[in-house]
Amino acid sequence: MSVRVLVTGGAGFIGSHLCKRLVEDGCDVLCVDNYFTGTKQNVVSLQDYDNFELMRHDVTFPLYVEVDQIYNLACPASPVHYQFDPVQTTKTSVHGAINMLGLAKRTRAKILQASTSEVYGDPEEHPQTETYWGRVNPVGIRACYDEGKRCAETLFFDYQRQHGLAIKVARIFNTYGPNMHREDGRVVSNFIVQALQGNPITIYGRGEQTRSFCYVSDLVEGLIRLMASPHALHGPINLGNPGEFQIIELARKVLAMTGSHSALVYESLPEDDPVQRQPDITLARTNLDWLPTVDLDEGLGETIRYFERVLSEA
Ligand code: NAD
Ligand code: UDP
Repeated sequence: MSVRVLVTGGAGFIGSHLCKRLVEDGCDVLCVDNYFTGTKQNVVSLQDYDNFELMRHDVTFPLYVEVDQIYNLACPASPVHYQFDPVQTTKTSVHGAINMLGLAKRTRAKILQASTSEVYGDPEEHPQTETYWGRVNPVGIRACYDEGKRCAETLFFDYQRQHGLAIKVARIFNTYGPNMHREDGRVVSNFIVQALQGNPITIYGRGEQTRSFCYVSDLVEGLIRLMASPHALHGPINLGNPGEFQIIELARKVLAMTGSHSALVYESLPEDDPVQRQPDITLARTNLDWLPTVDLDEGLGETIRYFERVLSEA
């Protein structure tokens, strides 16, 4: 019998790529989503497969299904969207984790949490290793997401210690690629859509802050390897591309690659926006034999082609 895999947030950006990979690998995939930021369009091509099933469900409510593995991705990831209804964001992370861990406890399924580099907040340690405890403002506008994800990690480790669950915690760094929503609000999709439409490129602050961008196929490979890793490997484990770029560099790259003449406009820096971010991926490299293989130019090229298609169809 094939492995029964639940992907929460499966109609979102990363979730849709993960579902596709799992379906192609022959797993019996149940994709659960409330379509807050995800769309049915992202998984429409999978509906033809017998081993794919789509269910509308909000993870803040209990779910009763029989599965062998759970990838818990449900949660808006873009600051614009997670700040839209911050209370719901915390509920999704915390109640969602409790519900999915409860499901894992009953079914004895292996469960992987999509955690985030945001648990490091605005870091004093650079690059960030998994042993760094982070510097998060607990009452700021990013806290609903950052603290929600931190609490979810706590729950995962307590379920492991208290109930012996097989847990995996991935700390995902900025990931981009096709299937991001054109109004996602994160930097890569914003810049590409702005450039292709000839609109001003919105640089927040002076654009000197840095991020490290991982292409989605590399990230999915890391998640699959982590799920398949030995029982004792719980994480947290960083998954991201160590290539670090200033936001202004990204803007110039997108302009050059799209041939756009959009102007750069400077807007105010959002509150608590981290100054720098780069993953130390030694753990993933040594334990999962995982390394990102798609560089920023190649990944941006794929993403630009995706948005050209989406915008031409709109
Ligand atoms: P996304 O917003 O495209 O996907 C999130 C999905 O979760 C969407 O389909 C959304 O509709 C769904 N969802 C939200 N609340 C839900 C709820 N209560 N019940 C059911 N479904 C719900 O974002 P993404 O970039 O694909 O992120 C996926 C996961 O990875 C998230 O948990 C995010 O925190 C984590 N992550 C992503 C990044 C990144 O750079 N993309 C970085 C760190 C962590
Ligand atoms: N950013 C920007 N212009 C935009 C969107 C984002 O300059 O149109 C900046 C943002 O201030 C941050 C970085 O790009 O410093 C990454 O933002 P994003 O929302 O993609 O993710 P974050 O890593 O902040 O969660």
